[in-house]
Amino acid sequence: MIPFLDLKAAYDELADELDHAVLRASRSGWYIGGPEVEAFENDYAEYTDSKYCVGVGNGLDALTLALRALDVGAGDEVIVPSHTFIATWLAVSAVGAIPVPVEPPSGSYNIDVEGIKKAITGKTKVIMPVHLYGIPADMDAICALAKQHKLYVVEDAAQAHGSKVRGKPIGSHGDVVAWSFYPGKNLGALGDGGAITTNDEAIAKRVRMLGNYGSEVKYHNLEQGVNSRLDPIQAAVLAVKLKYLDAWNERRRVIADTYNDQLNNSNLTLPRVPEWAEPVWHLYVVRSRQRETLQKTLTASGIGHLIHYPIPPHLQKAYQKLGLKQGSLPVAEQYANEVLSLPMGPQLDANLLQPVLEILNRFNLG
Ligand SMILES: *Cc1c(COP(=O)(O)O)cnc(C)c1O
Repeated sequence: MIPFLDLKAAYDELADELDHAVLRASRSGWYIGGPEVEAFENDYAEYTDSKYCVGVGNGLDALTLALRALDVGAGDEVIVPSHTFIATWLAVSAVGAIPVPVEPPSGSYNIDVEGIKKAITGKTKVIMPVHLYGIPADMDAICALAKQHKLYVVEDAAQAHGSKVRGKPIGSHGDVVAWSFYPGKNLGALGDGGAITTNDEAIAKRVRMLGNYGSEVKYHNLEQGVNSRLDPIQAAVLAVKLKYLDAWNERRRVIADTYNDQLNNSNLTLPRVPEWAEPVWHLYVVRSRQRETLQKTLTASGIGHLIHYPIPPHLQKAYQKLGLKQGSLPVAEQYANEVLSLPMGPQLDANLLQPVLEILNRFNLG
């Protein structure tokens, strides 16, 4: 049996340090905000090459609060990828704005820059790229385009902790970068967590205020905010795990290299990485026109696998009102039918992949 991702093994590897951090936070007497949160925010700002980091409750809140901090609201259009986890779109809808989907170019999983150009209208306010599967979007091209059209850039970096574009870490290319620390992410807490990073002090202050009931001074409310904060126990856990992030991403890279080098089956399309991108392999995603056969083969052999994602946002019931019918976004629809994520994670030994590779290389249309 090869698990898709072994979160318990990740905990076990750092158990002593994690337990110590949780105890320290528990015994500190600070249960909201305080030194553990501040320390992690400082560490993560530094890691992401950004000036400010503000912890929030989860990744969806990070995206939503980022948009609110830029005054994005009713009537505004936000350009989003057609192929993404639905949270990207939900954040746009949560502030009353309209998600305008743009397809990936064929062969890539990230938003197409030429497609963004065509989707810009007088109502566009934000471009929202997603660094899907841990492969960064072309931030230099996207930021140049945004500057030319006076648009904001909000990055969904929920799958990209540690990835780089032309040597620069994801974290401050766009105006705001939203992070999730959901347990399964490359940097995952022992529960929910999230953050934004930015180089803009005003944006950082506003996100912190909005996530704290719209208040900077207790019981003085400047805006109708929400309660969305990173809690100190999770911050203490994340500070421990951040120290291991590069090493754990490196182990993911070894697994991805093994797949890249040794998968050899014309029924499988392997991921493509632009030469300027340093991915962190949140997921290793292949495509097959025979996905059902592939799924059955893997299940029968005890090999973990998942689909990211089986239904594109525009075909979800939640987005029926947009009126984007089947066939309207063919690349996202094709990907939803063909993608499959193989076992990947820092606790997966690349040497144990031989049986997986053999099965995948033998799998055929029959
Ligand atoms: C996980 C994820 C989110 C949402 O993060 P949560 O912490 O689960 O709210 C948003 N976007 C992408 C691309 C994700 O993978």
